[in-house]
Amino acid sequence: MNSNIQSIFDKENETIQMNFVPKMDIEQTNLNQIIPENLQRKDLPIPNVTEIEIVRHFINLSNKNYGVDTGIYPLGSCTMKYNPKINETIAKLSDFINIHPLQEENQGCLELLYHTSELLGEITGMDGFTLQPAAGAHGELVGLLIIKKFFENKRIKKQKIIIPDSAHGTNPASAKMAGFSIIELTSNEFGEVPLDQLEFALKEGDVAGIMLTNPNTLGIFDRQIKEITRLVHQYGGLCYYDGANLNPMLGICRPRDMGFDIVHLNLHKTFSTPHGGGGPGSGPIGVIEELIPYLPKPCLFSSEKGIMCNNNNDLSIGRIKAFWGNFGVIIRAYAYILALGAEGLKKVGEIAVLNANYLRVLLKEKYNLPFNRICQHEFILSDQGIPNEITTEDIAKRILDYGIYAPTIYFPLIVPGAMMIEPTETESKHSLDNFIEVMNKIYEEARTQPELLKEAPHNMPIKRLDAVTAARKPILHD
Ligand SMILES: *Cc1c(COP(=O)(O)O)cnc(C)c1O
Repeated sequence: MNSNIQSIFDKENETIQMNFVPKMDIEQTNLNQIIPENLQRKDLPIPNVTEIEIVRHFINLSNKNYGVDTGIYPLGSCTMKYNPKINETIAKLSDFINIHPLQEENQGCLELLYHTSELLGEITGMDGFTLQPAAGAHGELVGLLIIKKFFENKRIKKQKIIIPDSAHGTNPASAKMAGFSIIELTSNEFGEVPLDQLEFALKEGDVAGIMLTNPNTLGIFDRQIKEITRLVHQYGGLCYYDGANLNPMLGICRPRDMGFDIVHLNLHKTFSTPHGGGGPGSGPIGVIEELIPYLPKPCLFSSEKGIMCNNNNDLSIGRIKAFWGNFGVIIRAYAYILALGAEGLKKVGEIAVLNANYLRVLLKEKYNLPFNRICQHEFILSDQGIPNEITTEDIAKRILDYGIYAPTIYFPLIVPGAMMIEPTETESKHSLDNFIEVMNKIYEEARTQPELLKEAPHNMPIKRLDAVTAARKPILHD
């Protein structure tokens, strides 16, 4: 990539004569009237090239990028599915984008937010929602602050949160940020929460609740889920559901019916917003009736005069994001839910599970499958038993040579050499078959030409990096 950036600097004087568009001959506004002179940049060290050179430069750079629009992106836990382009068009409607966030009384927008909350309530079974959190992890923090305030308000001292080792990594981080200490439970041989350990931890006392990622990071739905929530409630705790990956459950089952009190969703994963590169996201929190007063302010409610804001809630944990959250992401989710409807969402859930199980069953013919049971939207393979000590990293690098993005690797930590594969519902059978074929070819290469894998990738602009140096001493520009 560096060579390309360099080339545009080199091209500077070569191509200048190719500019056929004449320079503007109308008088320009006096810059000093707009920007004070001392703030004006005197020198701008960027190449002076023609329009076509700059267009080619950026198009060539963009072609080096890989995204869901380019090919399958089986990055487990991230739900890199195809997002219908119509959602982009809708989020870009001028009526939405020309509204200033301070126009808080805008009824159309408030109705959209309120209606989205109601739809999420139907999907999850929860009684109230806030759409403020800007990401899944942000939602987790909000949910935990609600749990904290709930017990503080009741003057009950509870400082611990139970988290299974199959949880998403953000769960313990959020619990810690909210000021809790963490009791980790070791998953049993089925990849589920061991009930005896859970009860043991609850009996110790001081437990504010459990945070459960379901399906967990092994892609497994905990069959004892109702017993888990029953036990936690029996000991006076609250149950938090990490619903970042709700895909497989859409229209099939609901966190509330499993006994949960708080749930967060990742609109940018399940409800179709292009994501990655750090944003923007949206991690709404849904709660049961009893916890509604603790939701961030302001809250929306419906009245005869329309949708109104309530800012006077004493129990609220307060505002946690400017304005109403990442509105554009919420618009996309709203459009997606309305377009698919109840039947469409259920189909998303069914196909997400079908696609993952199709890959699981065909890939386990060669690859080690540590938890051999029906999975949800994703599953875990490991590098155990691959010939010639080929590792997960070698496989991930070699996949790139075949024009496919690599799965999530070395996560979850509880499976050594893990490859976490999530095909999503938007991949066709043809695309899944191609992925299997590539994985099988790579397995064959591991047997017959291991050096090819050890040195991969071969076809990428940048070859195998020294991962340790890249992490410790990153060179982020020329
Ligand atoms: C992605 C994910 C999160 C974190 O969501 P962000 O939006 O990245 O903060 C939390 N839990 C699970 C299970 C996830 O997959």
